[in-house]
Amino acid sequence: MSETKIFRSRMAPSPTGDIHIGTLRTGLYAYALAKQNNGQFILRIEDTDQKRLVPGAADRTLQVFKDFALMYDEGPDIGGPFGPYTQTERLDIYQKYIKELLESGHAYHCFCTQDRLNEVRATQKAAKKVPKYDRHCLNLSKDEIQKNLDNKIPYVIRMKIPDNETIVFEDLVRGQIKFNSNDLDDQVLVKSNGIPTYHFAVVVDDHLMQISHIIRSDEWISSTPKHVLLYRYFGWELPKIAHLTVLLDPTHPGKMSKRYGSVFARQFLDDGYLPDAMLNFLMLLGWNPGDDRELFTLKEFVKEFSIDRLHKKAAIFDRKKLDYFNGLYIRQKSDNELVKLLKPFIPQASDEILQKIIPLVKERMVTLKQAANQTKFLFEDLNYNGDLLTLKVDSDTAKNMLQKSIDIINQFDSLKDSDIENLKNKFQKTIEDNNWKVGDFFMVFRVAITGSGQTPPIVESLPLLGNTKTLKNLNLALSKLSP
Ligand code: GLU
Repeated sequence: MSETKIFRSRMAPSPTGDIHIGTLRTGLYAYALAKQNNGQFILRIEDTDQKRLVPGAADRTLQVFKDFALMYDEGPDIGGPFGPYTQTERLDIYQKYIKELLESGHAYHCFCTQDRLNEVRATQKAAKKVPKYDRHCLNLSKDEIQKNLDNKIPYVIRMKIPDNETIVFEDLVRGQIKFNSNDLDDQVLVKSNGIPTYHFAVVVDDHLMQISHIIRSDEWISSTPKHVLLYRYFGWELPKIAHLTVLLDPTHPGKMSKRYGSVFARQFLDDGYLPDAMLNFLMLLGWNPGDDRELFTLKEFVKEFSIDRLHKKAAIFDRKKLDYFNGLYIRQKSDNELVKLLKPFIPQASDEILQKIIPLVKERMVTLKQAANQTKFLFEDLNYNGDLLTLKVDSDTAKNMLQKSIDIINQFDSLKDSDIENLKNKFQKTIEDNNWKVGDFFMVFRVAITGSGQTPPIVESLPLLGNTKTLKNLNLALSKLSP
């Protein structure tokens, strides 16, 4: 690659569903690399696999990149000098290039039926051979091909893989990677519906879009030798390529799986993680700054990022660490910022109420959603299992605790912030007079008021709930205990 060439990196997601958090990490690194070098970050939608398309997924993908502030410089919705940026809108372009490969003999028509391919595969498998196309159509004469085309016999176009060759490429993360060409299949480049496969479209597009750096996940390593050959067939310069390691689940062997928690980028936002906390977490999941610094804004990361410090080992997606980052970022926000962030999670609350909720939850908040869950008792009727009231004490004691609590609340005309100290003293005295344990009393009281054992500071929450609802909830608890 010549020194003067500008940096252009890309993300090329397929709209087959919501994008995985690992894809967002790849995007983050590709973004950083381009921006660090005053280059461009391109977003291209790779939708050639029409069978796996999920309606709306492309738009959702673009939105996720925007929501995480990884704004691309060129893309389907904003255009750019190398558009269109959606592969099915580029079919004419691929036509031209497949013709070139057919003419140079690096690609050939294959008219084999699916039945025949299945048979070949079964025979190879039975003989314990790696299933590969047997090149039945490789040496068809021009006339035979023309006849088949005239007779409208369906066909695909395959690439011709050379025999007995070692294909070598330099991976920016893993170093030199070698493949034996005999292990590669004559890859289909254009399907029978005329649409190219990923392997063909990705090479043509990365070249035409002048991509200088490809950063992608390591599931594509085994495809790369085919791409290397295509670059060679066309006489194009191979971009620099980095394959990133997978993300492992800390609790179960293997890759992150949706069985054990959120895995889609959008899901994390919906779960109440902040984009900047999430990005900071992802920065360190596969890259390290060379020292023990952990906190980076996107701008700082762009400055610091270096491919040399990408990890060669798979990274563990430690959800506890993510929670730690999220809590940290939440506490760095001003109350006004938090009002805006919490609003979508607590739509029932006015800004004024949110301002009052924030001091109650800010210190211990892990996610925005958790804060919403812990404060929903302020807005919703309670619905909980009465057994929660007797986890620590028997039913009679719980009733007594609730009755005494009602008596205390009844001593206040309205509950104001200035009453909190007074309320606390009265609760304390009752607890002492009755020889209750503080923890037992507040467990019963907390469940009665909120329907849950995990809440913001409970006495401090009462002015927000107000007398009427407080009394209503205490009476509801009593009724749950009555035989
Ligand atoms: N379309 C591929 C995907 O969905 C992109 C692979 C690549 O980056 O080359 O992951």
